[in-house]
Formats: sequence, C-alpha cells, structure tokens
Amino acid sequence: MKTSLSRRDYDCIESVYVLSTDGWSARVKDIANRLKVAPPTAVEFLDKLTGLGIVEKGPSGYRLSEKGVDRFNEATRSHRLFETLLVRNGVSLKEACRISSTLGGPVDEAELEQLCSHMSHPNTCPHGRPIPMGGGHG
Ligand SMILES: [Zn+2]
Ligand SMILES: [Zn+2]
Repeated sequence: MKTSLSRRDYDCIESVYVLSTDGWSARVKDIANRLKVAPPTAVEFLDKLTGLGIVEKGPSGYRLSEKGVDRFNEATRSHRLFETLLVRNGVSLKEACRISSTLGGPVDEAELEQLCSHMSHPNTCPHGRPIPMGGGHG
C-alpha cells in the first residue's frame, strides 16, 4: 500500500526533481524559493519525504530516490493525461495546463489507467511532452 501524497508533497517532489536535474543536489534555499515557503517549512516537507524514502538527503542537499522518481513520473503522467483530455474537449492548452496543475495530486493508478485506455494511450501531451507509461502497460 502506497502512502498517499498531498498536492504540497508533489510540489516538493517536483522542486527537488527540477533542481537536481543537472546532477547536483537540490539545496533547501532553492527548494523553499520554488515552493514560496520559509526554509524551515521546506525542511519539514523534506523530512517527511525523506522518512517515506522518496527523497534522499546527501551532504550538500536533496535528490529523489528511485521511488521518488517513480512518484514524480506518476504525477507527471496524471498532469499530462488530464491536460490532453481537457484539450481534446475544447479547453485551451494554457487553461488545461493550469487546471491540471491544481488537480494533479494523488490519483488512483487504476482509474488513471482506465482513463488512459479510454483515450487510446496518448504518448505525448498537447505540449508535445512525453506522457510517462503507467504500471499497467509498457
Ligand atoms: Zn501542463
Ligand atoms: Zn503539457
């Protein structure tokens, strides 16, 4: 059973991911800036995620564990699937992206997979960015 994560947790995971993509660890100060919170608040979020094994703490900062990368992919997948769904239904891309960002938290994987099947498994979102595969296929 996976721990369900809040929208805030996902924002934090995303920040760590984005800030550590060049191979360096993400620093608390930069994570706090991205999340628009004070550094001690960011440390609280990070401690929680570290405890869940999603984030790893190194000597100079934080990065996602393998499990964390999986959770990040799931969140990206739901964001891009919803975005695709909304655009297919006549919503502008900008608006679809904004709505998906507010929805994008924890989504049940089985339901997401059902939605994905229903949409004939799109490979990319309307921005042309890849939609990560779900556990159900690939
Ligand atoms: Zn988007
Ligand atoms: Zn997109």
